[in-house]
Amino acid sequence: MSTMLDLINELWFLKRDIVSTDFDRALLRLAEEVPMTIHEYPTGEECWTWRIPEKWTCHEAYLETLNGVRLIDYQHHPLHVISYSLPFEGVVSREELLQHLHIHPTHPEAIPFVFKYYQRDWGLCASQTLRDSLADEKYRVVIRTSFETGTLKVGEVIIPGESQKTFVLVAHLCHPAMVNDDLTGVVVGIDVARSLLQNPRPHYTYRLLILPETIGSVAYLSHHEHLIPDMVAGLFLEMLGNDSPHALQTSLTPESQADRCLCSAFRYLDVSGYIGAYRKVVPNDERQFNAPGVRVPMLSISRVEKPSFPPRPYPQYHSSLDTPAIVTQERLENSRQLILSMIDAWELNQYVVNKFKGEIFCSGYGIWIDYQTNPEGSLRLFEIMERCDGEHTVADIANELDISFQSVWEVIDQFLSKDLVWLSRTPHPTSPIRN
Ligand SMILES: [Zn+2]
Repeated sequence: MSTMLDLINELWFLKRDIVSTDFDRALLRLAEEVPMTIHEYPTGEECWTWRIPEKWTCHEAYLETLNGVRLIDYQHHPLHVISYSLPFEGVVSREELLQHLHIHPTHPEAIPFVFKYYQRDWGLCASQTLRDSLADEKYRVVIRTSFETGTLKVGEVIIPGESQKTFVLVAHLCHPAMVNDDLTGVVVGIDVARSLLQNPRPHYTYRLLILPETIGSVAYLSHHEHLIPDMVAGLFLEMLGNDSPHALQTSLTPESQADRCLCSAFRYLDVSGYIGAYRKVVPNDERQFNAPGVRVPMLSISRVEKPSFPPRPYPQYHSSLDTPAIVTQERLENSRQLILSMIDAWELNQYVVNKFKGEIFCSGYGIWIDYQTNPEGSLRLFEIMERCDGEHTVADIANELDISFQSVWEVIDQFLSKDLVWLSRTPHPTSPIRN
């Protein structure tokens, strides 16, 4: 069994373009770590309003002076060619070259990650330093790429639960030669799946999907429409290795049980982390799951430093500086544990049904808290108690009181041990009905 960092070191430099030989190679390697089904969707197939793209290969690409001095070579770094670049060979003027030579907006030494899957253009990428040094009138460009029929692949790991109701975990694998975005989400997802598979059977079914961004989610969802009604919650994973606290982005429907539960658990698990609104932290595949006709409340966990527009989630984002050097095994393990703890809360989150009527005789049950020495604890005990009515989940109570899931659970657990409440997966109102 490989560690998360082993997998990163092994797979990060592969040219994992959305439909490509190296994407498949990376996915097959991950399938050695967990039981995985690989779904294949052929080029040209319609998926809702989308179409599966061709398989793309770059055989060779370089930029030379007319004297044959090579300035850029795809062999040295996959990011030197825009993903899905058209083939091009010829001598071009400096002006024309600059229109097709992309640089990173903030890092003069970095090669940017640029993709044109559907816009159809040719292009190269270089550091700003190199671009600024171009003084000749003409340059020779060679980009030998091919487009052919292939299959887009989606890896699916299923952890069966007692219920068909499903929690979906998603990570994308389609960022060539980069690590934090997107390989960290993939390896943390794999490790979360390994842990879930080792534990006793959970209540919910879990599905981990490893796919190319956007089109992979659309392809999978459009071919599994029958599963969508059972998808009750989801979490997208990425950017989990950089040196920042966690950021949790809510779903499109922040009132959902998934949002209430994961957000209230998160605030206890990473006290320096923050919660941001849908699309405002970093947009990814959760967009497809939250979209019309699908509407799975899917949140997103990352280590985005702070929300920005356009997205600049960490300094090395979408560049050749996003290497294994900026991630650590410790931070990956920390993220894995945080996600597993949020899943623990999700498993525990049920409606709390009172067996008692009136206020509980706390001293009689040995749970009385002295309001003089611990006024806050005493108030909290009663505030939680009065919401145990079969109409509030643990997460509902946490949200109403603006406290963590874990602090509510501590009290509910005590009530359970005294046989004062029971837990129900569905609402079970106990208040008298008045006409
Ligand atoms: Zn990205």
